[in-house]
Amino acid sequence: MSDNIAEIVLPEGYEPSEDESYMGLNHRAFFRNLLMAWRLQLQEGAEKTVSTMTGQKALFADPTDRAALESDRNFELRARDRERKLINKIGKTIRLIEIDEYGDCEDCGVEIGIKRLQARPVTDLCIDCKTKEEHLERATASSNSNDADAEN
Ligand SMILES: [Zn+2]
Repeated sequence: MSDNIAEIVLPEGYEPSEDESYMGLNHRAFFRNLLMAWRLQLQEGAEKTVSTMTGQKALFADPTDRAALESDRNFELRARDRERKLINKIGKTIRLIEIDEYGDCEDCGVEIGIKRLQARPVTDLCIDCKTKEEHLERATASSNSNDADAEN
């Protein structure tokens, strides 16, 4: 059996299970495929946003409409910024899978678990550490809370 996960072909409809070895080849191939498909989807979405924005330019002469368009644009730019960060995070996560460092909590080292990873494939914290972190974030809550990592 190859230990190159890029060569693993999973059966149709494969779902990772806790009966298999945790982050064995099947699990890693599954999450790698999942993340690559997700990244592709985001990248295609980002291209669409760019062409919509350039297409709308200079259509509105009225200042009120221009202001509305500006705030739409700002909203879109922020959304794209978050998207870009997420795409980077997905790329980093794919590399972690490839070097077999995926699936354990970055803080305490326990297995994050298949179910949690299926729901949040880019998370690097177990649910306990994530909960702790969220409490801390809320305690130090401030103006930059909008930029909190939504994907975790
Ligand atoms: Zn942890």
